Amino acid sequence: GGVAAYTLEYQQRVSFLQRGALKSLAKTDPLTGLYNRGAINQKLNHLVDYAYRENKTITLMLLDVDFFKPFNDHYGHIAGDKCLIQVANALSSHCKRPLDFAGRYGGEEFLIVWFDAKPTEVDQLASNVRNHIAAQKIPHNASKVAEILTFSAGIVSGTPAIPDAAQSLLQQADQCLYRAKDSGRNRILIQDLGDDHNLVSVIK
Ligand code: GH3
Ligand code: MG
Ligand code: MG
Repeated sequence: GGVAAYTLEYQQRVSFLQRGALKSLAKTDPLTGLYNRGAINQKLNHLVDYAYRENKTITLMLLDVDFFKPFNDHYGHIAGDKCLIQVANALSSHCKRPLDFAGRYGGEEFLIVWFDAKPTEVDQLASNVRNHIAAQKIPHNASKVAEILTFSAGIVSGTPAIPDAAQSLLQQADQCLYRAKDSGRNRILIQDLGDDHNLVSVIK
């Protein structure tokens, strides 16, 4: 009886652990270990609604590596993968508070979300990320904007005025990122939530 009970307990324990492992696999990107697109969207929906209810700020930084196709063509796909892992590790180190998170939105595009950052802190948070990646000095001889790997980013920050604003926040950050690319790359454009036209600042 004792052995049977032990075996059953053991099997249940293993399957409990395996279920946990499978669940977290479903949420993370295998290359970088960051949250994948599905998990990002789920977490973002919850956090944006929480920010709305609690009247707190939420800050989205959408980043895209500059000239990454030429990087792969020049250094090879394996080096490209290593580079994405380095970028991912750098980004997660800037999520310091419990509700902050980083994810890989797709390809060479990443998202950082900071919860309840003060408007005066946003420039500093963005500069820290930029300086961290620059300090890694990943050589990029095929880039047209620098000799090392750079990224462009769009940031949108503020307190949501309406519920279910996650997707529109993401869209706004994406438009900001597009403008950062279009105006020369290797820069971060920052906008207030809901203001599609006026830039708060540019970091370059
Ligand atoms: P831009 O400065 O405008 O962003 O140009 P780009 O070359 O970075 O952008 P583009 O979208 O043309 O190319 C993205 C490249 O990222 C192409 C694709 O092969 C590469 N990529 C996407 N996912 C991975 C990956 O997991 N590993 C590697 N090594 N490359 C990837
Ligand atoms: Mg891209
Ligand atoms: Mg790119």
